[in-house]
Amino acid sequence: MSHRHEHQVLQLDVQGTPQAWISLEHAAVHVATDAVAWTHGDGPLATLRGGFNVARGCRSVIDVPPIVALRGAAAINLFAEPPAFSRSKLFRRDRMTCAYCGGRFRESELQCEHIVPESRGGRWTWMNLVTACGPCNGRKADRTPEEAGMSLLYLPYVPNRFEAFLLAGRHVRADVHEWLAARLPKDSRLH
Ligand SMILES: [Zn+2]
Repeated sequence: MSHRHEHQVLQLDVQGTPQAWISLEHAAVHVATDAVAWTHGDGPLATLRGGFNVARGCRSVIDVPPIVALRGAAAINLFAEPPAFSRSKLFRRDRMTCAYCGGRFRESELQCEHIVPESRGGRWTWMNLVTACGPCNGRKADRTPEEAGMSLLYLPYVPNRFEAFLLAGRHVRADVHEWLAARLPKDSRLH
């Protein structure tokens, strides 16, 4: 039984800015069409066997590296935008830890907690959200931390682009983890 489908390739632009997590097959197309400017990693993530190549009289074999940087300019400067928010990225940013009681929980037991409640105009942003367990979230209710007498054990922050890709990645291999981790801001909790 192959778990190949679980592997994702980190796609960068030519300057090394993360663009997307892509499938092995998608990455193999970039390799085969000579769209890759440079690669990084300790050897191939996988070797894909393609169709029979009549001209060369052999079956094509493509080594897929774990990180591929594509030729050409990125369509937009993704670095200028804050990384897209998601529940699971928030929980991983906060290390699965409730901001009020400090307990560690499974993802299914965690909730997104608005520091300034939505009813008071609090927004759905990296800086206004922390991870909380159900009981703490329920106890705080529609109050600010001050009103509820519940202080935050850690502060929210906006992950940088490398951190956001690390938070979003699944089954990230050690060499790719290392490459992304070397580019995290100093105050990141992922260190
Ligand atoms: Zn809690």
